Amino acid sequence: MDATERTPEIPLFDLELSEEDIEAVLDVLRSGWLTMGPLTAEFERTFAEHLGVEHAVAVSSCTAALHLAYLAAGVGPGDEVIVPALTFAATAAAVVYCGATPVFADVVGPHRLDLDPASVERMITPRTKAVCVVHFAGYPARVQELRALCDAHGVALIEDVAHAPQAYVDGRAVGSFGLAGAFSFFSNKVLACGEGGLVATDDEAVAALARSRRSHGMTSGTWSRHTGETITYDAQGLGFNYRLDEPRAALLLSRFKRLDAEIARRRELTRAYRAALAGHEGLIVPYADEDVEHSSCYVMPVLVRDHARRDEIRLALRSKHGVQTSIFYPAVHEFTAYRERFGVPSLPHTEHAARAEITIPLHMAMDDAALERVVAALEDTV
Ligand SMILES: *Cc1c(COP(=O)(O)O)cnc(C)c1O
Repeated sequence: MDATERTPEIPLFDLELSEEDIEAVLDVLRSGWLTMGPLTAEFERTFAEHLGVEHAVAVSSCTAALHLAYLAAGVGPGDEVIVPALTFAATAAAVVYCGATPVFADVVGPHRLDLDPASVERMITPRTKAVCVVHFAGYPARVQELRALCDAHGVALIEDVAHAPQAYVDGRAVGSFGLAGAFSFFSNKVLACGEGGLVATDDEAVAALARSRRSHGMTSGTWSRHTGETITYDAQGLGFNYRLDEPRAALLLSRFKRLDAEIARRRELTRAYRAALAGHEGLIVPYADEDVEHSSCYVMPVLVRDHARRDEIRLALRSKHGVQTSIFYPAVHEFTAYRERFGVPSLPHTEHAARAEITIPLHMAMDDAALERVVAALEDTV
């Protein structure tokens, strides 16, 4: 392995923290209070206001947020939850944590990699308790149609908003259309702090359940006992340790101030890619130019027309051009753990995308020259 193979010249993701971000975390370390406390509460208020929702409950990951959202929807043993298979495994895994069965539905097609409402409708059974939609790559999914479908069948809509901290449908933020939205602040996400997540909801009972279960079902937390607000606690349900902590909340608050500007830059990079790749005969670029302004532009997916060459193209991009790529996503229903337990439904559009997709670099540390190199590398290899 030579150096370019170990560290790509143009990585898929990169994260640049400002001195202010680092100072904000150092201040917390100096304060001596590390676990969930006032900064976590301040971040929750900031994020709830940004989304236009009543409640935001910060947790340790989006996986935890999905688990709590499914529990809040009443998902339990014997139930089914309809999820896409073209997603990160967590969307489906959190269903299994509840003792329920993930039922995979197909995506729209190569030009839209989010759930097809018609496919979801075909999967609804009397055991369906919820549908979870993923806003793929930051582009709003067909959330209004899905909401109407869910309402008609009396099932909950959950949104996996890991890719989309700022994306809109008719001026309303995604993550606010269902019973609950689950956000991620993992290292490579749009708003990152390392590990973190959040449950957003307008529903008082969902918020109360998430607040309680993230911390062992306890009626009060360490901070409220520290401040003398409470002196003891009861455990009112089986909970988990899904807490966020203060250094991460401080980092999120600091980075949040740049979110608008960073997403504007992501959209600019996305538009530049779209313009440069539009005429490429070997590639399909999903979504439309007019979708970009409503998207968080988390990643840049492209599909190779001759998908038999996809893996060879990825290897050449890396070894010859120093360009790191990824696959969004290997299909969850084809993973060993899911195949063995839940069988393999036929999802033609998902399977096609899982074989043809390449995710190319898109991040804040990327300049126009790097983007042009990625475009040239695609022209050379595809
Ligand atoms: C990253 C991701 C998750 C999991 O987020 P964590 O914060 O790492 O738990 C869930 N769903 C999707 C679609 C993701 O991309």
